[in-house]
Amino acid sequence: MTRYKRYVLLPDRLFDGKGIFLDKPAVVVEGKYIVDVTSRGSLEVGEHYSIIELKGVTLLPGLIDAHVHFSGLKTYNPAEAVVTPLELRVLRAAQDSQKALYSGFTTVRDCGGTIALSLKRATAEGTIVGSRIVASGRPICQTGGHCDIHYLPLEDVAKRGNALLCDGPWECRKAARIALRDGADFIKIMTSGGVGSEKDDPKHPQMSIEEVKSVVEEAHRVGKKVASHAQGSEGVKIAILGGVDSIEHGYFLDDESIELLLKKGIYYVPTLCLVEVYKKMMENPPPGVPEWRLRKQEECIEHMPKSFIAAYRAGVKIATGTDYYGPPMRAFGHHANEPITMVKYGMNPVDALIAATSNAAECLGLSYAGSIEKGKIADLVGVIGDPVADINSLKNVVFVMKEGVTISRKVD
Ligand SMILES: [Zn+2]
Repeated sequence: MTRYKRYVLLPDRLFDGKGIFLDKPAVVVEGKYIVDVTSRGSLEVGEHYSIIELKGVTLLPGLIDAHVHFSGLKTYNPAEAVVTPLELRVLRAAQDSQKALYSGFTTVRDCGGTIALSLKRATAEGTIVGSRIVASGRPICQTGGHCDIHYLPLEDVAKRGNALLCDGPWECRKAARIALRDGADFIKIMTSGGVGSEKDDPKHPQMSIEEVKSVVEEAHRVGKKVASHAQGSEGVKIAILGGVDSIEHGYFLDDESIELLLKKGIYYVPTLCLVEVYKKMMENPPPGVPEWRLRKQEECIEHMPKSFIAAYRAGVKIATGTDYYGPPMRAFGHHANEPITMVKYGMNPVDALIAATSNAAECLGLSYAGSIEKGKIADLVGVIGDPVADINSLKNVVFVMKEGVTISRKVD
């Protein structure tokens, strides 16, 4: 890493994050910020400028994965979380954050877990190099809900402290206050069962509208957002009617839930790349994966692309999120799989790039990130090739800058 006062980046092409492309641009960075975006011809270069030539490169805003979990886990075996020392999991998570950054994802949102709150601080204070983290800390759910640990006695779940279990509006309100006390940037709730929780069903709703409203009220009072894990359409509706800001997964959307997403302008983070993971796991189940998990995944496969494309065609705001948390096929560093899968299932590549940049930034409430514009943070990623012609070029990352600091550069 080298620090200069002022950089001029000269890629072949630029995508601004909102839909505009520029050929032969010059992007001027000073300190942490972009101070100018202009054409190469009109730029007057002073002596104190350091030129970064990026030949053959398309420059993009730092990419954003709106849904990860820094778990420090490496397998699908549910017992791993119990038998692996927390210190080891934290060290793995620190490496995962670095992998995300080097793959061009300068910001990730951790949607539930205790490690991310400290990882975020360690990154922000410069102790480790990694992606910027937006963290919820402990997620909130009902007793027996998706973030409960179903195979442990209830008192052990409380002792482990990985989630905030609550029932009734007042308990949920208190759980929200505890999450905020922990330092949550946003609050994560669960309004449906899930694939990774043994004794519930993705299609069954969890929490009541009143419970959701009490959490949302606490979060919104302090200017923070609420994201809901909601897979079945009933859970999606409960979350939306309760006032949440984003729907995570939405595997089984019906017309009414799509209508509600549109009407309220709520973000949809479909975590669509998991459909490919689920398909591969059916063919070749990894060691340790429980039978119930495979069965639930299989039920989702058919519906996930259908829900995604229906919401996309209806005009719902979509942001990229992988739900990667560590094990094979869901490992950090492969976050481009989400925009790539979105294109595979029918999204226009430009829209997929928007979903991974300006839309994701808006979904997270980061007004300073997600686009290449004067005044925005200098999170910049260079890929070889043209991601509109071939979205897979998002995997050819040759340049990463975060907050004006060059993290990696593989081109002259
Ligand atoms: Zn998740």
